[in-house]
Amino acid sequence: MSSNHTTIAKYQHYINGAFVGSLSSGGYIDVLDPCTEEVIAVVPRGGQKEADAAIDAAVAAQHEWSLLPSVVRANYLKAMANVIRENRVMLAETLAREQAKVKGLAQVEIDVTAEYYDYYAGFARAYEGEIIQSDRPGEQIFLHKLPIGVVVGICPWNFPFFVMARKVAPSLLTGNTIVVKVSEEAPLTCLAFTKLLDKVNLPKGVLNVVCGYGSEIGEALTNNKNVGIISLTGSVDSGHKVMAAAAKNITKVSLELGGKAPAIVCRDADMEVAVKAIVASRIIYSGQVCNCAERVYVEEAVYDEFLEKLTAAMKAVKVGNASNDSDIDMSAQINRKQLDKINGMVERAQSAGAKIVTGGKKSTAFGKGYFYEPTIIVDVKQDAEIMQKEVFGPVLPVMKVKDFDEALKHANDSEYGLTSAVYTRDINKMLRATKELKFGEVYFNRENFEAIQGFHAGWRKSGIGGADGKHGLEEYLQTKTVYIQQTV
Ligand code: NAD
Repeated sequence: MSSNHTTIAKYQHYINGAFVGSLSSGGYIDVLDPCTEEVIAVVPRGGQKEADAAIDAAVAAQHEWSLLPSVVRANYLKAMANVIRENRVMLAETLAREQAKVKGLAQVEIDVTAEYYDYYAGFARAYEGEIIQSDRPGEQIFLHKLPIGVVVGICPWNFPFFVMARKVAPSLLTGNTIVVKVSEEAPLTCLAFTKLLDKVNLPKGVLNVVCGYGSEIGEALTNNKNVGIISLTGSVDSGHKVMAAAAKNITKVSLELGGKAPAIVCRDADMEVAVKAIVASRIIYSGQVCNCAERVYVEEAVYDEFLEKLTAAMKAVKVGNASNDSDIDMSAQINRKQLDKINGMVERAQSAGAKIVTGGKKSTAFGKGYFYEPTIIVDVKQDAEIMQKEVFGPVLPVMKVKDFDEALKHANDSEYGLTSAVYTRDINKMLRATKELKFGEVYFNRENFEAIQGFHAGWRKSGIGGADGKHGLEEYLQTKTVYIQQTV
């Protein structure tokens, strides 16, 4: 923690339309460039006071906000999209630097986030209640769709700007107000966005953005009885804690948690497509994506061919500094803790008998920074930690299986249930996988990356509820049934 920085940027919370420094502890958190380990900014270390102030502001603003016609609320979302587009390069550079995301991908995240606000603005005239037939003469039954109230949106570091929009856009469109807690690891792009909000002219308190540790301000936000729904994107561990805190006030939770996506390569697969998509899916944002391919099952008939091509493609992955280098495929891991976690998992896999085909260690090529080599591991067992637990790094364990049945069985043998992928040209295998894979998403012959009009929802420990599309909007709506009896 820092207290005395003079030359680096100092950010603030955004509460009730105003910028606020650290109230609870007086302390600030250092934000590092993961490629150089340099401190690039500090953000306030929020606690109970900021949590209470932000929730109070959101409560005070919610009634009036909910009374606005949805098309008027949608206009604010459109204005947010425009502000993002006008500042797209600055926002992408901030994002690339704070989280070591290659510039191209950082730019995609910013641009898709602008589209996301526009997309949900488009629902203003499209979400509907229902009229239901009554059992009684002269009675009508209406189902109204109403805002829940105050949303707490807790964000991770891996797609911080996009995930913030995933919570803000549907919440505000439907008449909720929101308190966003940004990640302590990558808060800067979200906070830079708050500095642009004067151009949007949102009513005070409708959108509040606070920073700090999960165990401090995060807990304070999830314990508050005035919160209607807590929407967390993060690890399974944080999901457990948030659910436990929410239980106190029976607060609704929406949880987007970790994954351990299987990729199945069938004997009839287009091998070029499979290799390209699996490598892309594993090294995108240095393997730090919840829906990344985390384990591969290959039918034995094509195992040798697949492994040879996969190894060549992994060896060709170009690694560099996300802020300075162009034409790179991946960069550093977010922080030392993640780097050590990845390294530990690979070492334990080796101790258990697995073999490294390429990579397998921290990279010292750049002198500084949290770099890990693109890695392939074989001779792994289904019950090994590396096949069961989320790695969240550029490490791909590959297992030979007898046939498609064995691949399906192993793929489903997981505590996670977020995404899955199958490489096949056989329609019967596609139909079986569609029915039998127990995951929120199944991708055929393409990398795992969801569309904003789809529905991103984890099964089992990967979460509760979901985001995106019309079903994602429902997450932020309360249904009220109204019975009206005609009296004359
Ligand atoms: P994390 O769980 O460490 O942190 C996520 C957020 O939760 C942070 O803002 C953190 O401060 C907060 N938090 C932690 N403990 C808390 C508590 N007790 N109360 C309230 N808030 C608390 O996750 P991360 O390391 O930032 O992100 C990586 C994880 O997120 C991976 O497991 C990844 O799979 C998952 N993820 C899932 C999705 C999805 O859509 N399913 C998307 C992105 C990331």
